[in-house]
Amino acid sequence: MKVLMVAPPGAGKGTQGVVIASHFDIPHVATGELLRDHVERGTELGRAVGKFLDHGELVPDEVVLEMVRGALEAAKGGGYVLDGVPRTMKQARALHEIAVELDMTADVALHLQVEAAEVVRRLLTRAAVQGRSDDTEEVIRRRLELYYDVTHPILKWYGERGILVSVDAGRPADLVGRHILTALEVMRQMIGGSPDMPRRTIDLTGLGAAFGASV
Ligand code: ADP
Repeated sequence: MKVLMVAPPGAGKGTQGVVIASHFDIPHVATGELLRDHVERGTELGRAVGKFLDHGELVPDEVVLEMVRGALEAAKGGGYVLDGVPRTMKQARALHEIAVELDMTADVALHLQVEAAEVVRRLLTRAAVQGRSDDTEEVIRRRLELYYDVTHPILKWYGERGILVSVDAGRPADLVGRHILTALEVMRQMIGGSPDMPRRTIDLTGLGAAFGASV
């Protein structure tokens, strides 16, 4: 299973990325985590990107794409779940080219849909607990603005390619996780099916009540 996630900050990409990775036994590649690790270790790359992270700005495309190329090469022949990339249309196209080259194009673009007010609330709560340098109110506002301006529009492209799956991620994490795995299992069967089987966007965002009712 080859999955990339597109979602606003605070939607739960990290949490659900781990759930997906362990369910399908595939690597979870989180660009934000990889970048923060460089900053903490004080590597040359870390010193170059630190200020971007602190201000909620996107780091240069080449840095992220280089990182993702390495991760995909390491995962070659298997699956992956990408968390944090692509964030711009340019990254989406470049990522697609890398994936074509490695014969590893994504099966699913997973959209975690959450309202802006809810993600701000979650990020401020996380700020109090984890103290991430980019979880201040001002930087959160900037990260959200960037998400809606340059990341969210990519979803249309994945919709046109027939690989978009949208999930309502505004509910408790375990419910969201079940939703996602159900959707991905459906996609897995489609991928394993006839190559000319029609592909449609799966939108489970309206099924919240049905899923939530059993818990
Ligand atoms: P969040 O989704 O909560 O903003 P991440 O951990 O995914 O958190 O990313 C944290 C920061 O890392 C971003 O604000 C940005 O500075 C940088 N970053 C991560 N992925 C990318 C990317 N694909 N392109 C540019 N910058 C990125």
